[in-house]
Amino acid sequence: MKPILSCHDVVVDFSGFMALQGVNLDVETSGVLFLIGPNGAGKTTLLDVICGKTRATGGEITFKDEISLVKLQEQKIVEAGIARKFQAPSIFLHLTPFENLEIAMKQKKKLFSILFAKLTDVQKDKINTMLRKIGLFEVRHEKAGSLSHGQKQWLEIGMQLIQEPTLLLLDEPIAGMSGEERTKTGELILEISKECSVLIVEHDMDFVRKYSTQVVVMHEGKVLCQGEMKDIQENEEVKNVYLGR
Ligand code: ADP
Repeated sequence: MKPILSCHDVVVDFSGFMALQGVNLDVETSGVLFLIGPNGAGKTTLLDVICGKTRATGGEITFKDEISLVKLQEQKIVEAGIARKFQAPSIFLHLTPFENLEIAMKQKKKLFSILFAKLTDVQKDKINTMLRKIGLFEVRHEKAGSLSHGQKQWLEIGMQLIQEPTLLLLDEPIAGMSGEERTKTGELILEISKECSVLIVEHDMDFVRKYSTQVVVMHEGKVLCQGEMKDIQENEEVKNVYLGR
């Protein structure tokens, strides 16, 4: 099967500092791909380039085998089907989870002009289904500001998902979460991966081991290797540069 996203020789030059030095990477259509590597390896920069937040200095990124992303505006990349959840939640704290999802859904449909229009029953059902999926149905009418850290993160994932992306990018989704919240997040990610490809930057190796289909190791702006976690762990190069042995 063809990959959903392909990076070819992607370079990012921050005024002389080469954060990405020719990244080659394929993201498969199904499963959960984790991006790991030491601090400064270029993982976040790679997510930034894929979603258009940072411009590539060189190389090519192809989505769905036909859409070239490197010159596309951020909004066009969203419309093409790529959603990005950043580390810090950017939800509306004074609104409820239901209202946050409503705004996210209308954004995708470009319904700004009818932002305050009444929701149809179908739209309400869609929001309630998402609330159940992210475990927030019971608190759907509370202010988002009163939610726990984990619940805020799930709400933001829901806001991305309700826009029906084909590829979801997550940056350290379990940072700051309790053990129980981590497990719930892992289960949510597995559920999401049935409908959409997921690419995740993560430092927690236990989490990666448990929920990854494939792992990509980055080091000094390049991809060192890609494979299943059990093989990655045995890779001598990975042990040397990543685990510092
Ligand atoms: P990682 O996510 O793997 O920790 P990053 O992608 O955040 O790595 O950063 C890769 C390198 O690029 C780091 O050395 C970082 O300091 C540098 N970097 C990131 N963003 C910028 C920027 N806007 N300008 C200059 N250097 C940057």
